[in-house]
Amino acid sequence: MHPQSSPLRAGGVQTATEKWRFHCLRCLHVWEELYEARYCGDAVAWRLSGVAAQPPWVDRACRGCDGLWVKALPDGLVARRVTAK
Ligand SMILES: [Zn+2]
Repeated sequence: MHPQSSPLRAGGVQTATEKWRFHCLRCLHVWEELYEARYCGDAVAWRLSGVAAQPPWVDRACRGCDGLWVKALPDGLVARRVTAK
């Protein structure tokens, strides 16, 4: 019963790379982006292209028309890794 399968309990940081799909309801532009979610205890820190970012569903502006009617949909987990602190 070693906690090897739950590194979070040992203070590790879990990083998940997630693909998100964005859909503009105004100009119908669709695009995808890879986000990195770092789970550290109860906190989640989001990164986009290595830069700290808001969660994917917050404040996204369309790349095509700058409109704010953008729907964000999770499109699957790309990779997951755990690093011990
Ligand atoms: Zn748009």
